[in-house]
Amino acid sequence: MNIKGIAASDGISIAKVYKLESIALHVTNDLVTDANSELEKLKSAMEVSSQELGKIREITLVNLDEEHAMIFDAHIQIVNDPEIADQVKDMIERENHNAAYAFQTVTETFATIFESMDNDYMRERAADVRDVARRVISHILNVPISDPTLIDQEVIVVADDLTPSDTAQLNKKFVKGFITNVGGRTSHSAIMARSLEIPAIVGTKNVLDIVKNDDVMILDGLAGIAIVNPTDAEITLYQEKHEKFLAKKALFQKFKNEKSITLDHHIVELAANIGSPDDMAKVLDNGAEGIGLYRTEFLYMNNDNFPTEDEQYIAYKMVLEDMPKHKVVIRTLDIGGDKELKYLEMDHEMNPFLGHRALRLCLTNVPLFKTQLRALLRASVHGNLHIMFPMVATLDELRDAKAILKECEKELTAEKKAFSTTYKVGIMVEIPAVAILADQFAKEVDFFSIGTNDLIQYSFAADRMNQKVSYLYQPYNPSLLRLIKMVIEASHDAGIWTGMCGEMAGDQIAAPILLGLGLDEFSMSASSILQTRELFSKISYNDMKELANKAISLGTNQEVIDLVQQTLKGE
Ligand code: PEP
Ligand code: MG
Repeated sequence: MNIKGIAASDGISIAKVYKLESIALHVTNDLVTDANSELEKLKSAMEVSSQELGKIREITLVNLDEEHAMIFDAHIQIVNDPEIADQVKDMIERENHNAAYAFQTVTETFATIFESMDNDYMRERAADVRDVARRVISHILNVPISDPTLIDQEVIVVADDLTPSDTAQLNKKFVKGFITNVGGRTSHSAIMARSLEIPAIVGTKNVLDIVKNDDVMILDGLAGIAIVNPTDAEITLYQEKHEKFLAKKALFQKFKNEKSITLDHHIVELAANIGSPDDMAKVLDNGAEGIGLYRTEFLYMNNDNFPTEDEQYIAYKMVLEDMPKHKVVIRTLDIGGDKELKYLEMDHEMNPFLGHRALRLCLTNVPLFKTQLRALLRASVHGNLHIMFPMVATLDELRDAKAILKECEKELTAEKKAFSTTYKVGIMVEIPAVAILADQFAKEVDFFSIGTNDLIQYSFAADRMNQKVSYLYQPYNPSLLRLIKMVIEASHDAGIWTGMCGEMAGDQIAAPILLGLGLDEFSMSASSILQTRELFSKISYNDMKELANKAISLGTNQEVIDLVQQTLKGE
């Protein structure tokens, strides 16, 4: 059986299916006659839960650190809490309640008490109690809940959707790819799959309903096709395709230490997008000439609380020190849209991508913003730091953000804490209003970086996460190319550079046009860099200028694709 979706991350994997579902647990209030059997179920569910949590603790210690592992010590304590256990047993023995109902009732009472406390730490414990209750109850009911941390054999994860934090928690050693019902090429789980270099397919609509746990699956992230329970012949065919893919990748290695230069000696920069200092090894391995986008929100998302100024300083310093010769663009917090923080309550919004997100949220939460800016400024002494603000819509917002940055400089000066005076400040151009007014913005920043993931969704009014409108997600559409041209020209007129950190920068059809439009820096998933460098080495800048001019005079996305393919064939 073949399943078709959107190819989200290159590569081919063959492994067993692991369904990641959130299963509803049905707890009834039925009374029981055999209390002893319920007590037995309770005892065994508590034992299994404790063992599982111990295992998760070990895995977390290996994958993350002691601090994260300690969360599971707290969970084990909750499972074995004598007060909870006594009350549950009481309800079973004296009132003949079933074990699941008794456990749910008692733990819910505890969680509600924690929730009403006047202390952030205690309030957060409510979620821990509920998490533990769900695990124990699932064992009482004998309904397995999926737990990606426990994966200990090679699998392909199948899910309705994966949030960026789900993706971050996947055990990279065993997860050989993933495939989801929803999502688009620029949803953040897809972007993360590319930086983890695991194949992925998104937007299949129904893969989760079609497959069963332990089905064998071929995941072809190049074509966006998955094959369930393939024949031997199909397995052989895809193993060969996988070998070819690896061989092609190996060929690109010779470009690792080369410049990014065209046949007629036009030089550009190919930089990498990262989500964490952990990505740096892959970045260096792929010959990146800088970091064009460090999405700092993952530092916040992989934490149980806002990262402190020192924690942030250490992360930023690590990245800057790993890139001593090149620029490092670090973007300030960009949460909202599909990126949430489990510890920050955000209002439910009708249109989160158009809502109170990113810089908007930081400007109304100045202490939060200042913690990050102070950490960035302190880190600036360790390299060539470029601070970048996301989701700027107006000059007023930019000026407000810069004013807060200046306040942070003053604070640090008063505290005698060092920072560099040569760091740079830029903005993401991802809202059409900014692209149109780029000449004005160019007077007040040191650089632009075009965020096409959002710029496309805002230009075509098409949600980047919604596969039903993914046909409107048109990176090659001349209307978008004209916007990009305006931004690049405005920046050059003002003597500043323009980069692109949206996924379009690493797209092999778009890159030649962007080169012709004069883009200075292309920032992409590390795995796309060498391929793009190889492509540029075979084409001429002058020809690409001509190609770009032709492209912007066309009418449709497809016409531009045809033009590029035609032109590259002749190169
Ligand atoms: C973009 O919008 O193009 C971008 C790079 O930012 P993000 O994908 O994190 O929204
Ligand atoms: Mg964006």
